[in-house]
Amino acid sequence: MDFLRPASWEEALAAKAAHPAAVPIAGGTDVMVEINFDLRRPDHLLDLGRVAELREWEVGERTVRLGASVPYTQIMAELRHDLPGLALASHTVASPQIRNRGSVGGNLGTASPAGDAHPALLAAGCEVEVESRARGSRRVPIDAFFTGVKRNALAPDELIRAVHIDRADGPQQFSKVGTRNAMVIAVCAFSLALHPESRTVRTGIGSAAPTPIRARAAEEFLNAALEEGGFWDTGEAVPPSIGARFAGLASGACNPIDDVRGSAAYRRHAIGVLARRTLTWCWESYRESERRAPCA
Ligand SMILES: Cc1cc2nc3c(=O)[nH]c(=O)nc-3n(C[C@H](O)[C@H](O)[C@H](O)COP(=O)(O)OP(=O)(O)OC[C@H]3O[C@@H](n4cnc5c(N)ncnc54)[C@H](O)[C@@H]3O)c2cc1C
Repeated sequence: MDFLRPASWEEALAAKAAHPAAVPIAGGTDVMVEINFDLRRPDHLLDLGRVAELREWEVGERTVRLGASVPYTQIMAELRHDLPGLALASHTVASPQIRNRGSVGGNLGTASPAGDAHPALLAAGCEVEVESRARGSRRVPIDAFFTGVKRNALAPDELIRAVHIDRADGPQQFSKVGTRNAMVIAVCAFSLALHPESRTVRTGIGSAAPTPIRARAAEEFLNAALEEGGFWDTGEAVPPSIGARFAGLASGACNPIDDVRGSAAYRRHAIGVLARRTLTWCWESYRESERRAPCA
């Protein structure tokens, strides 16, 4: 196995162009497991560790440009105000050691239905910036990024450069069911983001379908219910009947399997519970912020 060590982004793109089958390695917390278990034996590993710009982030007016290799620890420490959903999701990834190395770019590269960053990214709204030496840069909306079980929209000669994530304009939540509190792959996960500026909500579901998905019917129902009831203006409590319908529609969006971590029926049920809970938490935060700044 050859080890390619580009020192810059340009060199990394050139190496990927020359060896499209080369496997990029960022934190290595997925790649090394696959190699150690002999699930993968690539001819070339493409080490991104020396590409400094992949570990940088920038907070813009409306979006955060998050370098692909920024580790979870840094997201939790530096970006929890701008990206609260992703910061909460980062907290639930594995252990401190894995969070020090693991990255959102790596999570997207693996594209597991159980990747914890994915529901938060779907709920916040984002675009994945990918690039190849031959065709240059393009941005893939997160809704189009996951193409199948552990498959994504990357072409063989492309690398993920950054993720452009909408800065939070309202409360966001992420909640995960696991068999214990740490070092656990999600049985299922749910993320909710309120977007008061556009008076919309977005959701993300993990580990309850072949790919991470949004619960679109649930979003549409809640958008209409909040608008028709004038809830964005009054900041009144959302009645339990709305929460229950939202939960039912979120549960209905799932297409889970039975596996060692949980049954399909349990996953459907749990997503409904997480949807109702995250709606309660988010809406209470929204009401609180409205009480503090009623004229905002
Ligand atoms: C003990 C343990 C516990 C874990 N627990 C969790 C958990 O709770 N939740 C969770 O979501 N994950 C978990 N994981 C999985 C893993 O930590 C995450 O998926 C992490 O985000 C991977 O990031 P990385 O930088 O280490 O990726 P790597 O292992 O370096 O790469 C992962 C994949 O992405 C590709 N890749 C990386 N960077 C790029 C790039 N810039 N462009 C194109 N492709 C790229 C690689 O080729 C590879 O296919 C766990 C792993 C371990 C070992």
